[in-house]
Amino acid sequence: MKKEFASGNIKITIDYDKCTGSGECVTACPVEIFEVRDGKAVANHVEECVECCACVNACPNNAIEHSSC
Ligand code: SF4
Ligand code: SF4
Repeated sequence: MKKEFASGNIKITIDYDKCTGSGECVTACPVEIFEVRDGKAVANHVEECVECCACVNACPNNAIEHSSC
């Protein structure tokens, strides 16, 4: 199952079949978009995303898709 988190032109999609809750995205994001909740990553306040793509690059399971990356 995939879940989308969007704001304006920015869309972050997390594939929950791939996400293991490992938390690299939480550490990598400079504006603290991610948290792990009940073992899966969720993206909050997406409007603050600076489109750096660190989350996509950090995820060991390629679970994150980003509209800008
Ligand atoms: S880095 Fe990837 S696998 Fe780990 S919590 Fe984030 S989205 Fe899930
Ligand atoms: S692209 Fe950068 S700022 Fe946006 S969610 Fe990913 S790590 Fe955070």
